[in-house]
Amino acid sequence: MQKILLLATRNQGKIDEIKAILAPLEFKLISAQEIIQDLTVPETGQTYAENARLKALAYFNETGYVSLADDSGLEVDALGGAPGIYSARFSPKANADDADRRAYLLSQLAGKPDPWHAHFHCTAVLTLPGGEYIETHGRCEGIIIPQERGSGGFGYDPIFYVPAFQATMAELPAEVKNKISHRAKAISAMKARIKKLMTT
Ligand code: IMP
Repeated sequence: MQKILLLATRNQGKIDEIKAILAPLEFKLISAQEIIQDLTVPETGQTYAENARLKALAYFNETGYVSLADDSGLEVDALGGAPGIYSARFSPKANADDADRRAYLLSQLAGKPDPWHAHFHCTAVLTLPGGEYIETHGRCEGIIIPQERGSGGFGYDPIFYVPAFQATMAELPAEVKNKISHRAKAISAMKARIKKLMTT
């Protein structure tokens, strides 16, 4: 019988990217919303690693499936590393969406000397049978630009410019983002382990 890997996230952008990074899939991959509707995991940790562990272990404990969680964020030097672990909640507006968060970030940077150096960080946590887990990290460098460019990706991608490609993350083809991103680096670092765990 095919083994099941549970992606402990409801963020469709992350789900699409993690599926692509793990391809070709020799096992069944299901996302959080496909299996549990009512499990919300408060991100009460002070670090990416703590939050990723909270999410992975909550889904593992609830379902018994090997679970993979990603906690990620954008760190902007001119903002002292903010929004960091608060990236998904970085806007005072109620029910803010990605566009609101980008606009709020730019409002916080207005008047600060540019270039606005930044990086994305990702910590991935994979639960192992028995409740142990492994953890990997990835980082991707860039510059925040004041005008949105491109329609790919999600989150802060349209204002995150990657100098090596002379394009924003949202302008890069998915195949490229999924090779160079913080998420690609963190998940790729545990890919061999995942394949072994899921196919033996
Ligand atoms: P969390 O890991 O669910 O706490 O939220 C991560 C947040 O960081 C996302 O909602 C985005 O705002 C931002 N973020 C993480 N990774 C990316 C990315 O690859 N592109 C753009 N924004 C990202």
